[in-house]
Order: sequence, then structure tokens, then C-alpha cells
Amino acid sequence: MTITAYIARAVHTMNPSQPAGQCVAVRDGRVLGVGPIEEIRRFGDVRIDDRYADKVLVPGFVEGHSHALEGSVWRHLYLGYFDRRDPEGALWNGLKSPEAVQQRLAEHVDQGNIETPLIAWGLDPVYFDDAPIDRQLLDAVGDSRPIVVIHASLHVMFVNSATIDRAGLSDLDLDGIIRGDNGQPTGVVEEFAAMHPIFDALDFDIFEGASNTQALNRYAQAARREGVTTITDLLNPMSDAAIAALREATSAEDFPVRLVPALNALAWDPQAGSERVQQAIEYNHERLHFGLVKLVTDGAIQNFTARLQWPGYLTGPNNGVWNAPPQTFHDMVAHYHQAGLQMHIHTNGDEAVGVILDALDETLAMWPRADHRHTLQHVQLIRQDQLRRVGRLGACLNIFANHIYYWGDIHLSKTLGFDRCQRLEPAASADRLGIVFGIHCDAPVTPISPLFTAWCATARETAGGTTLGATEKISRARALEAITLGAAYTLRMDDRIGSLEQGKLADITVLNEDPLATDTPLKDIGVHDTVLSGRPTGTH
Ligand SMILES: [Zn+2]
Repeated sequence: MTITAYIARAVHTMNPSQPAGQCVAVRDGRVLGVGPIEEIRRFGDVRIDDRYADKVLVPGFVEGHSHALEGSVWRHLYLGYFDRRDPEGALWNGLKSPEAVQQRLAEHVDQGNIETPLIAWGLDPVYFDDAPIDRQLLDAVGDSRPIVVIHASLHVMFVNSATIDRAGLSDLDLDGIIRGDNGQPTGVVEEFAAMHPIFDALDFDIFEGASNTQALNRYAQAARREGVTTITDLLNPMSDAAIAALREATSAEDFPVRLVPALNALAWDPQAGSERVQQAIEYNHERLHFGLVKLVTDGAIQNFTARLQWPGYLTGPNNGVWNAPPQTFHDMVAHYHQAGLQMHIHTNGDEAVGVILDALDETLAMWPRADHRHTLQHVQLIRQDQLRRVGRLGACLNIFANHIYYWGDIHLSKTLGFDRCQRLEPAASADRLGIVFGIHCDAPVTPISPLFTAWCATARETAGGTTLGATEKISRARALEAITLGAAYTLRMDDRIGSLEQGKLADITVLNEDPLATDTPLKDIGVHDTVLSGRPTGTH
């Protein structure tokens, strides 16, 4: 068999026994060795590939929490506050005022059929100093074509009068349809139960949008461009259509990433849900990895919907919302644990973390299982005593490092205040306690870019330039580990990906600069290419 050796300026392996070398040698899609080329030659004839001779090779990046929605949501109009690139790489400018939002909508409302809704996404009014986004604002853009604007968090929707009429919202009695003093809908619709009449009336459902091969291919390309070789879809419906699309997309030889879907457990009866995952595991192959279950306990801090312990929110409502009663989460944790599956559990606020740690504690006392690797996701406000419990229970963390940049200023002034902002995303504390952790972007909530995420964990800078909790910064080397081996461990895939070690799949990210030997901020280091199972995925 042919041995290919990718020669490079530097190689960082994440393997402590053999941390660096001058080349990565590949045979049968696996890493044969890292080291001096003359040592590789002892295995047989070596074909030297010097296309990366002036580049730096690191293990392929692993994005442990993002959503395939990133591949479908760009079919709709982007209205976010921050500049952002679509999966094809085109730049969309961020919109800094309600007027700018209206203007972009106005540019598109006259295009297309008046019967089909104009759908937009990414709006985050928390940046607009409380100027209301409501039906009046959208009616001023157009009141005959239905307009639907989805909040950046995906948990809230803003609609115009044409949508309210088409969906009959005035006559529906649902908590999430917000009403004004006159009893009429304001155009603000919160949480999923209230969104469904709109999906039905307008014949679209943004959350099912990723269950097709085209969306999965776009998602994979967006990830590949940022150096990702393994990506999650951490809230997959696992409907027949969703599974079929995942299997079809990943069966293509040139699909450029490994894809790891997690069952959306809240949409399933636990017995049926665990059977669903166990059956789907039969379909696993090198580029598709079923086996995870996702639970979503609370909301998001920037929407004031995360569940917080005392003293609650700095301004606004006192506490957030549960997606199900806490007892339901206790029951689900016990069920999926007993079924032998691995859970990834969304816990944004510290109260949510507490409920899940209690559930894990109880469950593990009754059904001990070494190396379960249940992973708490986001854990933005986890306290020191909770971190120690995580360590003791053998759980893992996936920390939402990007949040510091995108919402840190808001957390300081509106949601949390100074003290809790110091402990936001406490990666250094997790590291000190020996907890294995990844860091993530939660795309499409924030853009996919592991190097940006790693920069957030090292710099802890907000968009406004404030540093939050300097003692929780981690080093570049630890951040690089979190986006490779750390994330791979949380997915229970560290036996095959996450480092460049003999026998592992040859997944490589090719960088323009050495992240451990340059002053360039990690976020500004260019990704040149990726290699999946030893094969370059780009056209270089
Ligand atoms: Zn998510």
C-alpha cells in the first residue's frame, strides 16, 4: 500500500508522546506516523506530498456543538447585528439599528411571490436599546406579504399583520402569542408551541429545513472552510426523512466532514427515543456517527430565559423558563443512562446545571457506569462547587466560549452584572480540576470557526473590547486541545480522531501560520485546507 507523507513547516499532534514532527505519514486513510521522514521510510516506499510544505498541520478540528440548520437557514434573509459570512463565503454586513433592519427587509419584500412569506433570521433586538420589534415596524415594510423574522436565538419570532391574519393568531389562545393592551397580538411570538400555527399556515418549518442532502452539504462545506473535519448536529429530529438525508449525504465519497447527530429527546417518548438511537447506530460508518442523545433544559441568558439561581437577572424578569418540568429531566436522565446511551445536556443557567447534576448524581448512585461521558453543554454560569461535582461525577463539559464575544457586553450591563461575568465560560477552572472539555459555537447561533472559538477562550474579550474574567483565560495550547482532542473525547470518538497518532483516522487541518509560534491572534490565522482520511478536501 502506498504511503503518503505530507511534509510541513510544523506539525502539532496533540499526542504528548510525540507532540511534533516534520511530516504526517498516511496509509489506508490512517496516520502511519509523525516524525522524521527517514524513520517513516522503514515502513516502505514513501510518496512525498509537498503541497503543504510551507503550512502547519494540526489535528482536524472537531466542532462539538453546532446545528445543521446552519446549512438551511441561509436560504432566508440574514438580519443579524454582526457581520457574517454565508456557507458560500459571501459577506453580509451586520445591521446596527431597527431602521437598517427595515431597509434590508424592504429591499427584498417586493421580490418573489406576494403569497409566499418573506422569511428572515438572526435578529437580536437586545442590541437596539429596547426599541420594539413588532408588527407595526414590520407592517411599515409591507403589510400584504407575510413577513416572518426569526430571533438569533431561534426561540422568538416577529411577524407582520399579514402573517397574524394568515395564521389566525388573534383567535388562538397560546401563552407564547404576546398581546398588547388592546388584546391584539403585538407580532412577538415566543417559544415553539406558539410558532407552530405560523409554520402550518405558511407551509414552512425552519427546524425541519436541514433534513435534506442539499442543506447537509452546505453545512459540511461551511464547516470545512473553517478547518472542521468532524461536526455535530446537536438537535436532530431523527425522523425517517432526517435519517435518510444524513445517510445519503454522508455516503458520498467526497463528503468533507464526519457528521455526529444527536437525538432531540424532548420530541420523543424516552423508550421510543432510545430504540431509535440504538437502531440508527447500525447505520454508523466512517463519516456518520449516531449514538448521542440531546436534552434541552432551559433557554438562553441573552433572552432572559436561562434558569438562574439567586439573585436572578440583573434587569428584566427574575428567572427564565424550563423546557419541561425538572422531574421530567430526572426521568429522562435515568432512562437514557440505563439504555446505555451518552447524553449531551443543554444547561445554560446555574440552576439548570444544578438540576442536571442532581439527576446525574441520583442516577449514577443507582446505576454506576464508569466512563459514561455525559456532557453538560454551554454551562455558561457554572459555579466552582458545581465544577467540582462535574469532576467527581466523571462528566464532561462543552463550554460556549463564543458567548463572551457576542453577548459579554449585554451580560455586563443587562443580564448578569460584573461578578457573574467574571466566571462566564470558566474554561481555566475546568482545566484546573482535570475535567475534559470542548468549546463550541452553537451555529447558527454564532458562526462556525473553531479558531475564533479558541481565540475567545484565550482572550475573553467582548465585541466592545472589555476583558471578562481574565483568570479564566486558557493558553493557546489548551484552546487548541479543546477544539480537537477535548471535543473528540466528549463525543466518545477520541479513539479515532482528535489527535495525529498512529492508527487514528488521518484528519488534518492545514493552517497558514503556526498557532503556537506566532503572535497573530488565533482568530486571524487562515485555514488553508483540510484532509479527511488522508485525502485533501479542497482543490489546492
Ligand atoms: Zn445548540
